[in-house]
Amino acid sequence: MPKHSFFTEAVHAGEDRSANYGAVSVPIYPASVFAFSNADEGIAIHNYEKPGYFYGRLGNPTVDALERTITELERGEDAIAFASGMAAISAATFSLVQSGDHVVAPESMYSTTTNFLKHVGETFKIETTFVDASNAEAYAAAVRPNTKMFWVESPSNPLLRITDISEVAAIGKRAGAITVVDNTFATPFNQRPLELGADLVIHSATKYLGGHSDLTAGIVVGGKELIDKTRHGAAKFYGGNIAPQVAWLVMRGIKTLALRMERHNHNASALANMLLDHPKIKQVYYPGLPSHQNHEIAERQMIGFGGMVGVDLGTADAAKQLVNNLKVCTFATSLGGVETLVQPVALMTHATLSLEERELAGVSEGLLRISVGIEDINDICSDIYDALG
Ligand SMILES: *Cc1c(COP(=O)(O)O)cnc(C)c1O
Repeated sequence: MPKHSFFTEAVHAGEDRSANYGAVSVPIYPASVFAFSNADEGIAIHNYEKPGYFYGRLGNPTVDALERTITELERGEDAIAFASGMAAISAATFSLVQSGDHVVAPESMYSTTTNFLKHVGETFKIETTFVDASNAEAYAAAVRPNTKMFWVESPSNPLLRITDISEVAAIGKRAGAITVVDNTFATPFNQRPLELGADLVIHSATKYLGGHSDLTAGIVVGGKELIDKTRHGAAKFYGGNIAPQVAWLVMRGIKTLALRMERHNHNASALANMLLDHPKIKQVYYPGLPSHQNHEIAERQMIGFGGMVGVDLGTADAAKQLVNNLKVCTFATSLGGVETLVQPVALMTHATLSLEERELAGVSEGLLRISVGIEDINDICSDIYDALG
């Protein structure tokens, strides 16, 4: 498709009507198995010498349509969809690194990715050095002869720290390491890491791509060679393939991605600015605020600053009291849906980390993560204002 505005692309990306009788909405093919018309054709398709489908885990027309869609939106060459973000993360990791290899990753990021990399270190002897990812030089300093992968999550969960993606990807290229960016928080509406030099992009499509808190899915997108490696290795052996019904739902979500993200960006920015002056709030984290420690990098590499806001209320009691008082916003984990979700991070998502790890990650006990939804901003602001008491 020629380059159009992202609003147009989000609606039309991945379209191939000729394949589906002109159906405007891609059909859902639930089939787990596809019949062959003759011996030669069957053998050729089965052995990947001819395009076609034969078994659900290894390819499906509905899933293909989703993979084409995200490939276009992230400016990749190919993509592969999974049943969850963690399935995408584990598949990419096991396709790119092996025992004896070394990984460099942020000390503050989605806690399950942290725990996954620690687990992989203990079980498979793939060691990770956790660094201050807002300092690109920290990646360079951590490089060893066996470093194979740079992990980046920007903006990071939950503190919205920013990594200079082009700088880290350039260091990775020099070091012979593949740079993988978890782009879940930004989405391709706000940031396109492949254009900045990253090799692979990961999504938890459970969040903004799906956008309605009604599915779990994951995506890996990037260059053909790396995606082929992931597809024929991890996807084939480890499973974790997305169901066609869910792939269709993700595509349904993506049709309104641009509209939703524009509103998420606007609402989050308004909420962050309102909370800045509140006497009960110790700190507001939002990459769009000039006071954010990496605002300058965010401004350079992001198109918009996203829908996530971090707020430090100082104590666990204050954080608990606020979620108990909410009337419009919802007290729940996860993020990226149309509804505003509020979560005391240290007490929940990041409770799996030790106190020391939480401190290193900068997650204080009064920290709330707010996934600012698309409701009317005045309703969101007054609900949180009232809940602050
Ligand atoms: C939620 C999330 C994941 C994991 O995705 P699942 O779909 O829950 O498996 C990975 N990275 C980030 C940044 C996330 O927010």
